[in-house]
Amino acid sequence: MTTVTNADSSDSGRFDGVGVIRTKRDGGELTSGQIEDLMRAYLSGEFAEEQMSALLMAIFWRGMTAAELAPWTGAMIASGDRIDLSGLSRPSVDKHSTGGVGDKISLILVPLVAVFGAAVPQMSGRGLGHTGGTLDKLESIHGWDADLDQAALVRQLDQIGGVIVAASPELDPADRRLYALRDITATVESIPLIASSIMSKKVAEGTESLLLDVKVGVGAFMTDLDQARLLAQTMIGIGQAHGVRTAAMLTDMDTPLGRAVGNAIEVQEAIDVLSGGGPDDVRDLSVAEAEAMLQLAGLDGDPAKALADGRALDKFREMIQAQGGDLSQPLALGQTLGTVTAWRDGFVSRMDALKVGMASWRLGAGRSRPGETVSAAAGVICHAKPGERVATGQPIVELRGGDPARLQAAKAELDGAIDIGDDPPAARPLVIERIGL
Ligand code: URA
Repeated sequence: MTTVTNADSSDSGRFDGVGVIRTKRDGGELTSGQIEDLMRAYLSGEFAEEQMSALLMAIFWRGMTAAELAPWTGAMIASGDRIDLSGLSRPSVDKHSTGGVGDKISLILVPLVAVFGAAVPQMSGRGLGHTGGTLDKLESIHGWDADLDQAALVRQLDQIGGVIVAASPELDPADRRLYALRDITATVESIPLIASSIMSKKVAEGTESLLLDVKVGVGAFMTDLDQARLLAQTMIGIGQAHGVRTAAMLTDMDTPLGRAVGNAIEVQEAIDVLSGGGPDDVRDLSVAEAEAMLQLAGLDGDPAKALADGRALDKFREMIQAQGGDLSQPLALGQTLGTVTAWRDGFVSRMDALKVGMASWRLGAGRSRPGETVSAAAGVICHAKPGERVATGQPIVELRGGDPARLQAAKAELDGAIDIGDDPPAARPLVIERIGL
C-alpha cells in the first residue's frame, strides 16, 4: 500500500527535494512553503534539473490542486520582473489565445479595444510549430520593432492605449526554464503546467483584467471540449488568486480562422477587417472578444462601429508607427506556388485546421526550433471554406511563398485535409462557451 506523506525539510534544515518529489509522486499535496522553497532551490541550482524533471512528471500524472497552483504560479511570477501599470490613467485589459491557425485576432483586438480608452498591454510570443505567432506576423511590416523597454511600453500604453511587444527576458525566467525542461521530458501537455505557464506571464505583465480565448478543435492545443473547459477554469482560478479579473471564451478551431494563414497575408487580412471588410468569422470573433474585454475593463463602446468607421484602423496605424513600422511599404505577400482545386462540384464540408497550419509551416511561415527565422511571404489562402459551394477545377487552397522547393511537402500536408459533399455542413458556432462573462 502507498502511504501518502507530506514532504518536510530534512533535519539539517536544507531543502528536502527528494521528499517533495516523493510527496507529489504518491499523490500528496505540497504546502505553499514547500512550493516556494522548491522554486527558490530550482532557480539557485540546489534542486537539480533531474529532480525538477521528476517532479514535472509527477505533476503530469498527479495534477495540482488550486491550493498548490496559486503559490506555484506566484513563485514563477516572483522569479522575474513584474510590470507595474498602476500609474496608468486607463483600465488595463489583455487577452491570451491558446493558439490557432489563422488566428490574427490580436492584431485587430488590441487597437479595437484601445479605441474605447483601455490600455491593452499585449506581450506576445513567437510561434512554434503549426500555430503562428503574433510577433512573426507583425514583423512582416517594414521597420516594425517588437522590442520595447518598460518605460517605452508604459509610455505607449498611456499615450495610445495599445501595444504588442515581445516579452522581455527578465519577465518570468522560471517559465522559460520550466518550459524548456517540459519540452524534453514529454510533460508539456499537463493542464496545471500549461495554466501556470500562461498565467504567470500574464500576471507578470501587470494587466488588471484578462480574457482567455481557449481554442478547441483539431487545430488547437486542446482538441477536447471538456479538457478546454478545465484549462479555462484552471486559468481563471489562478487569475483570481492573483487579483486579475479573468474570464474565458471557448472558441472553435476545427477550421482555420479567416482565409489567410501565414504572416504578411494575415496582416493584410487584419487590415481588411480593421478597414470594415474582411472575412465574417474574423470580424465576428474580434467584435465578440472586444465586447468581452470592454465588459471586463468596465468600459462602454460599440466595437462593430469602430471597425466600420475607421477608428480601429487609425489606432492600429498609430500603434504600428510608434514601433517604427511603415505601412506605406508593400507587404511581402509572396507568389503563388501551387493550388489545390475542387475535384468535384459540391460544398466544402470540412477543412482541417491542423493540416492547413502544417502546410503553411512547411512553406516557411513557422519555425521548428526557437530562434529560426520565418518567411513573411509564406502561407496559405483558403479560397473556399466549409459551407461554400465549389465547381470542379476551382481553387480551394492557394499555397504562397518565395521558395518553390517547399511546395511538395506543403501539398502533402493537405492530403485528406478537405472534404466536398453534396450539402453544406451544419453551421458551427464560433464561440462555443463563455465562462465568467
Ligand atoms: N503556452 C504557454 O505559454 N505555455 C504552455 O505551457 C503552453 C502554451
